[in-house]
Amino acid sequence: MEVRKGIEVFGIVQGVGFRPYVYRLASQLHLSGLITNTATGVSIEVEGSSEAVEAFLARLPVELPPLAHITEVAVRDLPCDHHREFRILASRAGEERRALISPDVAVCRDCRRELFDPTDRRYRYPFINCTNCGPRFTIVRDIPYDRARTSMATFRMCPACQREYDDPANRRFHAQPNACGECGPHVELWDTLGQRVAASDPITEAAARLEAGAIVAVKGLGGFHLAADATNQAAVDRLRERKRRVGKPFAIMARDVESIEQFCHLDEFGRALLLSPERPVVLLPKRHPHPIAESVAPLIRDLGVFLPYTPLHHLLLADGGFLALVMTSGNLSEEPIAIDNQEAVTRLAGLADFFLVHNRDILLRCDDSVVRPTAGQARQWRRSRGYVPVPVFLRDELPPVLAVGGELKNTVCLIKGRHAFLSQHIGDLENLEAYRFFEEAVQHLKRILEVEPQLLAYDLHPDYFATRWALAQTGIERVGVQHHHAHIASCMAENHLEGKVIGLALDGTGYGTDGNIWGGEVLLADYAGFERAAHFAYVRMPGGAAAIQEPWRMAVSYLAEYFGEAFLDFRIPFVAQLDRRRVEVLLRMIERGVNSPLTSSCGRLFDAVAALVGVRQRVTYEAQAAIELEMAIEASDEDVAYPFALVPEGRGWLIDTRPLFEVLVADLREGLAAGAISRRFHNGLVEVFTRLASLLRERTRLNRVCLSGGTFQNAYLLEQLCARLGTNGFEVFTQAEVPAGDGGLSLGQAVVAAHRPK
Ligand SMILES: [Zn+2]
Ligand SMILES: [Zn+2]
Repeated sequence: MEVRKGIEVFGIVQGVGFRPYVYRLASQLHLSGLITNTATGVSIEVEGSSEAVEAFLARLPVELPPLAHITEVAVRDLPCDHHREFRILASRAGEERRALISPDVAVCRDCRRELFDPTDRRYRYPFINCTNCGPRFTIVRDIPYDRARTSMATFRMCPACQREYDDPANRRFHAQPNACGECGPHVELWDTLGQRVAASDPITEAAARLEAGAIVAVKGLGGFHLAADATNQAAVDRLRERKRRVGKPFAIMARDVESIEQFCHLDEFGRALLLSPERPVVLLPKRHPHPIAESVAPLIRDLGVFLPYTPLHHLLLADGGFLALVMTSGNLSEEPIAIDNQEAVTRLAGLADFFLVHNRDILLRCDDSVVRPTAGQARQWRRSRGYVPVPVFLRDELPPVLAVGGELKNTVCLIKGRHAFLSQHIGDLENLEAYRFFEEAVQHLKRILEVEPQLLAYDLHPDYFATRWALAQTGIERVGVQHHHAHIASCMAENHLEGKVIGLALDGTGYGTDGNIWGGEVLLADYAGFERAAHFAYVRMPGGAAAIQEPWRMAVSYLAEYFGEAFLDFRIPFVAQLDRRRVEVLLRMIERGVNSPLTSSCGRLFDAVAALVGVRQRVTYEAQAAIELEMAIEASDEDVAYPFALVPEGRGWLIDTRPLFEVLVADLREGLAAGAISRRFHNGLVEVFTRLASLLRERTRLNRVCLSGGTFQNAYLLEQLCARLGTNGFEVFTQAEVPAGDGGLSLGQAVVAAHRPK
C-alpha cells in the first residue's frame, strides 16, 4: 500500500548536512517526497510503500549526521500525490523560530585531507569546509540558516563550488559557507599600521615571523588570538608584558595529539576531549621535564592545551617549526576578544607585531571554551565556542525568562520552552567594551530565538552592572535571585531535578540577603526558595575588594579573630614577613569595622590558608591563591583532616573555623610543609560538609546533595567530596555541561525566576 507522511523535525537540523542525509535515506528506500528548512526546523514529506515509510521513520533518528541533534519529531498522514522524485525545496520563513543554530565545528577529517592534498583544488585553502564542519554560530546574522543570512553572503560561488552546493550526492550539498580559492575569502598578513606585508604565502610568512619570536594576531572563528612560540621564553614574557597579564595561564595549541604528549600526560578521556569537534581548551597535567616556556602557566600543574580547529590554524602549525603556539584571546586582560580587522589593528596596536587577517566577517564574538576532566566528566570552566548555542535541555517547559548573570565571567540565559540558551562567555562586566558585548549578546539571543522575555532575573548585588541594567529596564516583571540559590538551581536544572535538595554552594563572593558577602553556604533549596541551613562564621574582609587582591589580609583577619594581637608573636614564616605598619592599619580597620565587610566566603578562607602557608600573598587573577593551594597538595596516604566546629544557630549551624586555625598554626610552628597542610585543609572541608549533609538528612529526610559554585572547579575537593558523600549513601549531583562557577549563574537565575511564587 502506498502512503504519504508529513514529518516535522525539531532540534539542530539546519546547517549540519541534515537535508542531504534525508535525501540519501529517502533515495535508498525508493521514497518520493520533499524536504525543506523551515524557521522551526525541517519539514519532510515521504511517499512510498508503507514498509519503506516505516523503515524511513525508524532509521531517521538513528543514522543522523554527526552534528545533528533531534529534540522532537511530529508525524501526520497526508494524501498521496504520486510524484516520483524526492526534491529539496528552498527554505521558507516561518512565524516562530524554533530551529536551533549549530555551534562552530572544527574542520573535519575529509576536509583536512583535502587541505593537505596537492592535487585537490582546495589544497592549502584556509577556508575549506563542508556540511560536517566549519563556521556556523559566529557567521550567522539571522535564521533560517542560509548563506544570505551569513557573513558569506558577499561571496558569490564560482561554478565549481555552485555545482557541489547543488549536488545532493556531494559532501558540500547546501554547505552554506562553501568556498574555494577562486571565489571565497582570503588571508593577508598586515603590519602594525594595517599595511599589507608582501609575501608569496601570508600563512607561511606568519609562521616564519612566529618562529623568529614575533607576536602575531591571528583572526580565528570567534575572534582574534595573540599567538607566540610557546617554547620561546622571551616571546611569551613579551606577550605577558604587553597584554598586562601577569600570572594567569595561557592556552597553547599544538599540531596534533603526539605533540601534546611531549608536554602533557594524556589518557583516553583527555585524548577524546582534545579531538572532539568542539575542540575546547583542555586542562591536562604537565609532564616533567617539558619544553614549554615556564611562564606559559607558572606555578600550575596543568596546561591548557587544544588542537587546531580551523584550516588556517592547521596550515599555520604545519608551516612553523615550533612545537606549540600560545593562543590567547586578542584583547587586553579581561576585555572582550577583538573580531574586526580594523578594530584589531586599533585595539591590539602595541600587543601584536603582525596581523594575520581575512575578509570573512565574524558576526559574533566567541572565546575558546575551557574544560577540565574531573571525576570522570569534562567540566566546563568556560562554555563558549563549539558548545554555544546548543541549549541546555530542561525537564519542563518554562515561561520565557531572560537572566542577566553575575559580574565576573558573565553569561546571559534566555529560556524558550524546554530549552535554556546560555550565551557565550561575555567576561567581566567591569569595562565598557564588555558592557557593549553584553547588550549585543542579549539582543542577538532575542533575535535568533524570537523570544520576548516576560521575566527578567538578576543578582541581588546592587553594584553589579547586569543588576543595574536589569533594574533600568521597564515594562517587564523583574525577579532578584540570591547568588548561591542561583548556583544550586543551576545544578538542579542541569540534572533535571525537582523538589528539595541539600545544596552546597561554595565560592568567592555572592551578595547575601542580610547584606553580607556570602560564599560558604549550605542551603535547603528548591527552585522557588531556600533556607540558609549552615554557613561559615563571618569574618571581616579588611579593605573590601583589596582583601580579594591580597590574600595576606584575610590571613591577618582570621588570626586576629581567633588569637587577638598575640598572633604577632607567633614564630611562623607568615608573621615574620609581615609589614607591621600595614598590619597595624589593618587591625584598626577590623576593630572598627571600617571598610571591612563581613563574609562567610569559602574563597576567602582558601585565600587565608594559601597566604598562611606561603603559597600566595597577592593575586593577579581571580581565584589564583585557591588554585595554587590546590596545586600544592602533596600525594600522600595520610588522611588527616583539620577540624571545624559546628555551632547550632537557629534551625541550622554556624561552621566555626577556630579549631582549623588552631591546629593549622600548630602545624606551621612545627614546620609542616605547605603541601601537607593544603591536603589536611581540603580533607577538613570534605569532612565538615559531609557531616553537615548527614545532619540535614536526619532533620529533613532529604538525600540529594547538589554541589555548585566556583570552588568546585577544585578537582581534589570535588572528587573527594563526591566520593565521601557517595559512601554515605547520598545521591550527589554536580555540574559539568554548565560551569559550576559564575558562568553558570544565569541558568540558575532563569529557572528560579520561572518558579517564583506568584
Ligand atoms: Zn568538512
Ligand atoms: Zn569556488
